[in-house]
Amino acid sequence: MLTKALAAPNDLEAFWMPFTANRHFKAQPRLIARAEGMHYTLTDGRQLLDATAGLWCCNAGHARPRIVEAIQQQAAELDFAPAFQWGHPKAFELASRLANLFPADLDHAFFTNSGSESVDTALKIALAYQRAIGQGTRTRLIGRERGYHGVGFGGISVGGIAKNRMFFGSLLTGVDHLPHTLDMERNRFSRGLPEHGAELADVLERIVALHDASTIAAVIVEPVAGSIGVYPPPVGYLQRLREITRKHGILLIFDEVITAFGRLGTGSAAECFDVIPDIATTAKGLTSGTVPMGAVMVRKPVHDAIVHGAAAGGEKAIELFHGYTYSAHPLACAAALATLETYKEEGLFERAAELAPYWEERLHSLRDRRNVIDIRNIGLMGAVELAPRPGKPGERAYDAMLKACDKRLMIRITADTLAMSPPLIVTHEQIDRIVEVLGETIEEIE
Ligand code: PLP
Repeated sequence: MLTKALAAPNDLEAFWMPFTANRHFKAQPRLIARAEGMHYTLTDGRQLLDATAGLWCCNAGHARPRIVEAIQQQAAELDFAPAFQWGHPKAFELASRLANLFPADLDHAFFTNSGSESVDTALKIALAYQRAIGQGTRTRLIGRERGYHGVGFGGISVGGIAKNRMFFGSLLTGVDHLPHTLDMERNRFSRGLPEHGAELADVLERIVALHDASTIAAVIVEPVAGSIGVYPPPVGYLQRLREITRKHGILLIFDEVITAFGRLGTGSAAECFDVIPDIATTAKGLTSGTVPMGAVMVRKPVHDAIVHGAAAGGEKAIELFHGYTYSAHPLACAAALATLETYKEEGLFERAAELAPYWEERLHSLRDRRNVIDIRNIGLMGAVELAPRPGKPGERAYDAMLKACDKRLMIRITADTLAMSPPLIVTHEQIDRIVEVLGETIEEIE
């Protein structure tokens, strides 16, 4: 029985859906009406187990009472406060909490509304920093093949996914890319960090030799490449990147939009791998996906060079000409504070760490299934890569997503990879169910 609240609209034409096969979707729509805990409910009443935390973001699960109440109360108390030349207490409280959560001196938070904005902000801070310390010739930005850094022009320029770049002109100039780290020949079916590939970080030395360090501002990588289909970093790779960037005065930016807030069983990938970047971008799990928000965590020397440096001007001068109308939006701050409290109170990061070996074990039980060519995992992230159908890349995984939906499981796909990142409240039984449905799905699709 459909309740009124679940009623579906009768015209789907006007909404141009992002990153979606619009024509196919609108012929066979999947409309979500409600969410609670580990489940989504579609408008036709079917309940789906959420194996993707929405879009890698609802780490605390759905409709968590503390977060819901905080948003409701905040909307009534302070709906909006300008963040340019004004502040509100929760913005400062949240920044302090984040400074505590992130390791070392990643002590300053610049608030944004999304991962894409966090990336653009981080790149701009890196450029402004180099200029502030008298290194204004350092304008190049280095990304990595197959990297995903959102959809702003900065993000797609340093990003490395062809389809996200090829339709949009010449992008930012002065960008180069490291090689990606997927090496199925040597690392197929690795559990956790793959053994081979640390030397791929050394390509940065070649890039430095080509352009000269004096032209390079920053390197940006996802510590675990997420959107492309979960590529954990090879053992020692991030450490090498850190050494080489430090040696050449290049800032290291970790794009932690997916990896922060418990996905790896820790507050951040920086903490998990014990590699401290100069800047870390976040979003998604910051509010458990409830209100759009991102935060860019910046190390003290980088912040201080811009805010207290010689180029900052007098005390009444703005130090960084950057920000968003909705930076530190009160609803987002309230949601983020309640989310961090939920993570802490329920020990969700620790829970993710405890569940990770079971997740790994169960996921790798799929290795002998039809068309499976690789399985990768770390923390509560996982990917099952299928062989593409000849001449039709991506179609097999697309069909798997539809079939899994019929079996009441929500998964995410990228090319022919099935990607999973369940909310951190997932139970052992739900992990079993995810793997069982994946197994059946893979067997049943052509
Ligand atoms: N950076 C990374 C590593 C991401 O995974 C994403 C989104 O998946 C983004 C940036 C972009 O975030 P948003 O879609 O919130 O702009």
